[in-house]
Amino acid sequence: MRCEEVREVLPAHVKDGSDDLTVRRHLARCPECKAELARYESLMGGLRTLQMRSVDVPAGLFDQLLAIPERSSRLDSARHHVARHRKVYVGGGIAAVAIAGAAGAALWRSKARRPLTA
Ligand SMILES: [Zn+2]
Repeated sequence: MRCEEVREVLPAHVKDGSDDLTVRRHLARCPECKAELARYESLMGGLRTLQMRSVDVPAGLFDQLLAIPERSSRLDSARHHVARHRKVYVGGGIAAVAIAGAAGAALWRSKARRPLTA
């Protein structure tokens, strides 16, 4: 098995824990692919950590998002909302979630008001 072939299956090998004997043999004798495997494992470990991280939503955020006026563009609304409520959004991570949530809520509101057409 060539390095290119092994590297093609490495993501699945790490993600699904596949136990392909040919891949294992190649990894045992190829330091470059073994290093690539270590990088994938590290990346997958980091992704698992990200998936388990939770963020506390500020009280009343949903009502505030619904109160955003719809006249201006959705992105402007989200920016103004976050700027007005900067004290509520402690930390950049929460602000990023709030901006994404505001944009999503504005999009949801505009879609909810739009009549369904075929
Ligand atoms: Zn290799």
